[in-house]
Amino acid sequence: MTLEEYRRKRDFSKTGEPEGKIENAKDRVERIFVVQKHKATHLHYDLRLEIDGVLKSWAVPKGPPLREGIKRLAVQTEDHPIEYADFEGVIPEGEYGAGTVEIWDKGTFIAEEIDDNKIIVNLNGTKMNGRYILIKLKPSPRLKGENNWLLFKKEK
Ligand code: MN
Repeated sequence: MTLEEYRRKRDFSKTGEPEGKIENAKDRVERIFVVQKHKATHLHYDLRLEIDGVLKSWAVPKGPPLREGIKRLAVQTEDHPIEYADFEGVIPEGEYGAGTVEIWDKGTFIAEEIDDNKIIVNLNGTKMNGRYILIKLKPSPRLKGENNWLLFKKEK
């Protein structure tokens, strides 16, 4: 795991975002998640899940679904440091992700399954509660690239 891409994209003398460190989160059963509403060039919601000592991250343009039966595109972005879960504020103009960031939801989760193409988590947040599934999509003519996932809520 690495925060190289995260750090490369940012100038920490200009942005208030944390530089971050990789935490040793081995064997933690209850992990943290956060969703940050990010008003950048395009409004989106950043879903971040604590996995392997970093926050695995996805940008969800239409926002996470709050009930079953809705599937949302979630585009995986660079890993963020755990401390990022507390970040709110303004990223200055000219910096990567310039705009405002506010915490939209936050809580803990228990992982049910984590692999390269599928993640199942049981979220315990204020807005997002219950069993959520992320499935990695194969590249297609409509959705190119390796970073596209589907996010949906589904109880067993
Ligand atoms: Mn973002």
